[in-house]
Amino acid sequence: MRIANISGRLTLVGDEGGVDVETASAGRFGPDPQAVYEQWQAFREWAESVPSHGAAPIDDNALGAPAPRPAQVFAIGLNYRDHAAEAGLDVPASPATFTKFPTCLTGPFADVVLPSEYADWEVELVAVIGIRAYRVGASRGWDHVAGVTVGQDLSERVVQMASGGQFSLGKSFPGYGPTGPWLVTPDELADPDDLELGCRVDGHEVQKSRTSQLVFGVPELIARLSAVLPLLPGDLIFTGTPAGIGATRQPPQFLRPGQILSSHIEGVGAMANRLIAPPT
Ligand code: ZN
Repeated sequence: MRIANISGRLTLVGDEGGVDVETASAGRFGPDPQAVYEQWQAFREWAESVPSHGAAPIDDNALGAPAPRPAQVFAIGLNYRDHAAEAGLDVPASPATFTKFPTCLTGPFADVVLPSEYADWEVELVAVIGIRAYRVGASRGWDHVAGVTVGQDLSERVVQMASGGQFSLGKSFPGYGPTGPWLVTPDELADPDDLELGCRVDGHEVQKSRTSQLVFGVPELIARLSAVLPLLPGDLIFTGTPAGIGATRQPPQFLRPGQILSSHIEGVGAMANRLIAPPT
């Protein structure tokens, strides 16, 4: 199953287009894309039997974040060996965790304002929690995930490295968390633990890897994070980025206004964000 946020309304996505959930369910499920995660099991059961008639074409520019207002957003640093190596750092013994404050979230085709000349890309698999998870073992990790989506953990590298490390601030400028184009449930994926992901800047490939290369994969992240605190329905986990970021290149390369940042994950989808200069 795939669900999207279309102009702020929860929408089932099928081969023929989008079906508005509030309309198709005669109001049983409301229009809010965030609220559905509170009723995830009931929604999944209902969605099994929805006819595709009335499906409408989907306009990319109407797509918003599939989980636009999570209570908690977790993000993991140094979670691919090749990325830790390019950063000159060891792979951590436990997930290096920070937050992206939820106001940074935006849609898969939204313009993103660059606040400085030090904005960098990080394509990531993003997991969305479907069932509250507290002290859950890795073997049951995927059972607590509603689905996955594509994400960019955009990063302002000067702020990120200031004052001994300000990851949460440096990665939370408005628009620094595009996600989408929709949420895909794990059963739709041939192997949810082995998906190609990558990104391009103006069509030039800068990152390409597979999620099988994650040091801590989705089930292990659910276990490690939920050992400390409860993961709530609709929460996001940005799982980390592979090698190929701009900051560690020689010379360093950062995003510029006018460029298009394209991101994809195999079996999930693709998004494209135009970078723009701040208003003067
Ligand atoms: Zn990241």
